[in-house]
Amino acid sequence: RKCHATLKPESTRPVNSTFLKLALDTPLDQVFDYRWVPEREDEAPPEIGQLALVPFGRRETSGVIIDVVHQSDVPPEKVKEVLAVRRNLPPLSGQWLSLCRFAADYYQRPLGEVMVPALPKNLRAGTPVSLERALKRLAKLHAAPDPTPVAAQELNAGQRQAVEAIAVAPGFAPILLHGVTGSGKTEVYLQTAACLLQRAQAAGQPAQVLILVPEINLTPQLEQNIRARFPGLPLATLHSGLAEGERLTHWLAAHLGQASIILGTRLAVLASLPHLKLIIIDEEHDPSYKQQEGLRYSARDLAIWRARQLDIPVVLGSATPSLESWQHAQSGRYRRIDLHERAVRNAVLPTVRLIDMERDKPSEGITSTLIGAIKARLEKGEQTLLFLNRRGYAPVLSCDACGWVSNCPRCTAFMVLHKPEHRLRCHHCSLEQRIPRSCPTCGNVDLQPMGRGTQRVEEGLQQMFPQARILRIDADSTRLKGSAQAAFDTVHRGDVDILVGTQMVAKGHDFQRLTLVGVLNPDTALFSHDYRAGERLFAQLMQVAGRAGRAGQQDGGNPSEVWIQTRYPQHPLYGAVMAHDYARFAAGLLEEREQAGLPPYMHQALLRAEARELQEALDFLSTAAGLMDHPGITINEPIPMTLTRVANTERAQLLIECVSRPALQAFLREWMKALRAARTRVRWSLEVDPVDI
Ligand code: ADP
Ligand code: ZN
Ligand code: ZN
Repeated sequence: RKCHATLKPESTRPVNSTFLKLALDTPLDQVFDYRWVPEREDEAPPEIGQLALVPFGRRETSGVIIDVVHQSDVPPEKVKEVLAVRRNLPPLSGQWLSLCRFAADYYQRPLGEVMVPALPKNLRAGTPVSLERALKRLAKLHAAPDPTPVAAQELNAGQRQAVEAIAVAPGFAPILLHGVTGSGKTEVYLQTAACLLQRAQAAGQPAQVLILVPEINLTPQLEQNIRARFPGLPLATLHSGLAEGERLTHWLAAHLGQASIILGTRLAVLASLPHLKLIIIDEEHDPSYKQQEGLRYSARDLAIWRARQLDIPVVLGSATPSLESWQHAQSGRYRRIDLHERAVRNAVLPTVRLIDMERDKPSEGITSTLIGAIKARLEKGEQTLLFLNRRGYAPVLSCDACGWVSNCPRCTAFMVLHKPEHRLRCHHCSLEQRIPRSCPTCGNVDLQPMGRGTQRVEEGLQQMFPQARILRIDADSTRLKGSAQAAFDTVHRGDVDILVGTQMVAKGHDFQRLTLVGVLNPDTALFSHDYRAGERLFAQLMQVAGRAGRAGQQDGGNPSEVWIQTRYPQHPLYGAVMAHDYARFAAGLLEEREQAGLPPYMHQALLRAEARELQEALDFLSTAAGLMDHPGITINEPIPMTLTRVANTERAQLLIECVSRPALQAFLREWMKALRAARTRVRWSLEVDPVDI
């Protein structure tokens, strides 16, 4: 079947030709027609939702069949022939195709660029992988020994109310589960899932539950919990850390309906799940649900769309919901269920206190108050977590003599000093350099690190507490596959006295002996240009604070405490954190947003442009802004992005705003057509509902 390029003579062509309309992974916003010729006379035509291998330009590529027709508008001599149709895979469902269609429409991307990358690579490969072998792995996957079964916990009143509300919810029901850290949201998820799966089983119906988590590092812990709770129940996991072979196996388990629970990060929202009956989104506010390149989707928003499409419940869990979800709950569109207290007996929320850094000057980044609190933990054999959202040793290296600083030659950013690796590293373009022995400008050999990252804090702690077991967890310390898990295991085993980490350690983990959290330098976020910075900081602080005291107060042990070092102890954000008062904080923010005309009261899209010269990018955006005029749509001035140059590329952006989502969508659709037709050397991309602006 390699003779596809040569057209068959007219006479042998079947009278009733069959054409397949394919979605292919290309930036061209169209579907592609191919002729399908049966190999045998009685061969049934392909079905919608199957995959087909076709010639495309000089390569071969796989696409999804989105229609089977008997006529094509493409001139016959231009229509190429399908090379092969993958027959051994049940077709993707109409519901899955609609999900992709919605995502493509909403985020203004070509359909093929949504559908095809959502499938495992091995499935799209030119040489069809044998599904048998995949399927064998699947059997092995399910035969994996389960951990010792753990019985379901007795629910408290709040949890019971939550499980019941979700389980009896008829049809589409978005439920915001607002529960403080440690309130037992996981237990609610598991028992709700159990309830739905049992009910389906009793009715003889297949069922699947999708559980989304924000971070790949949280999957092993939850996976362990699920396996212990549901021994023998087939579970699939989907995240970017899987090797291609594994990804195919797990994806197939989901697509074939064999996996009952699918646990994954944001990409799992695009999995094919033919029997989906319930979606759970843990930490629904988390920014990592937003994909930041390619199809820039919000997994949370797509999950909600999916639940509506299938008429099923969707649970959004968080201690600090996104303002979008909170507002929906306030307006009655979502049902809200609150869990106000920690579930473990004796476990209360930690006391949050502020340390005024103007009065208690830190040494090595740590104030004497905090040092005293750490000592108290070391004496009792309890754990401390120090949170600093900045990795590396110091954010910049500088020369006092001449003012030289370690600028990245390719970005408008500093090269960060990484001392253990003996490198300067740019966190934006990944450029690495050896640490200069002397100042490149004046020759001064006494170069100074300015500021403080996790590596430097770790070093300071080692000097202050030489006997303590200190561990740093951040993106640098966990580069190797499996190393993050190993590090978390060490903490869980109790082999760590002081843990230093970035936001990686703030989320989800349940450290049993942790009674102290120290937050070293959160102030920068108070003055960010990003209007969401406050919301994010609040969520981060609540979350990291939530790591303390989860096991409950131990006899003779220290009470659980959170100390925040700040230069602005009067700032209202810290007041709200001390009061653990999300509702008040959210009410204040929503009022501000409404007055300022910001989301969730405004809908936005951002056109980004990249070029060698900044002016070129700005000019392109100006032209784009002038292409169309629309009542109700605000087209702002093009501006350079805050981080203007990355890897020698200049970047600018244009913000579009509208109070009506449908009106914005209608505008974007027309605008995109015009933009695609306009020829330009500038690389551009559109983001709908941008989060970083
Ligand atoms: P969250 O996700 O809300 O932060 P978790 O689900 O991690 O909280 O639960 C925190 C702790 O509470 C866990 O150790 C869990 O085993 C325990 N827990 C949950 N529900 C109950 C309950 N009903 N009774 C006692 N302990 C519980
Ligand atoms: Zn110098
Ligand atoms: Zn750089």
